[in-house]
Amino acid sequence: MVYGIVAESCTHAGCPVMCAGPNYEYAWADGLNTRPMAVSAPQYVGFLMRWVQGQLDDERLFPTQPGIPFLPDFYSRVQTIFRRLFRVYAHIYHSHLELVVALGAEPHLNTCFKHFMYLVREFDLIPNPKELEPLQTLINQLFHHDAIKYNTPLGVTMAIVPETTANLSSVQAATMTANESRPNALAADQLDASLRATNGIASARGRGGVLPVPIL
Ligand SMILES: [Zn+2]
Repeated sequence: MVYGIVAESCTHAGCPVMCAGPNYEYAWADGLNTRPMAVSAPQYVGFLMRWVQGQLDDERLFPTQPGIPFLPDFYSRVQTIFRRLFRVYAHIYHSHLELVVALGAEPHLNTCFKHFMYLVREFDLIPNPKELEPLQTLINQLFHHDAIKYNTPLGVTMAIVPETTANLSSVQAATMTANESRPNALAADQLDASLRATNGIASARGRGGVLPVPIL
């Protein structure tokens, strides 16, 4: 992900609440904080990065040795990771898109987000459609634009190419149903491999350091 592009402008003063527009606010909670805490956007992202890094470093959740079984709750825990990472994209689009456009980084943001959403859709990683509502229109446009461009049904994964929302403005919004093109059963190892490839986990792991902020 590309939070690093806006990190300097995403401050406690400018973004005192982790939000995605006026209708969606997110509090932070993890295993250490049972009661959700109201935090600023940069605090939320900081908590999230450290929490995700902890998940990635947990070899019970992401085994590094062959033959080690995945935990029974592997799928739901990966869903939680992606549900939370989506909120960072939602915050960037709603609060910092003007800066992203000014920096000429909008195609990069859109490409990263589309890649993220294809993975989400392929493995049903954010099953609650309400979680996607802050960016639902954009999601529909991105998928529909690809469906037209590649003459491919909406449910089929396609190549990821840079896009700009300006190019998409004339595209009629499509309907993406929550259950479109989903696998009948999750292949945990396949998802694990895709997740590593998508997020650079393989290279991030083993260093024992903090996950680089710009990369989700
Ligand atoms: Zn912000």
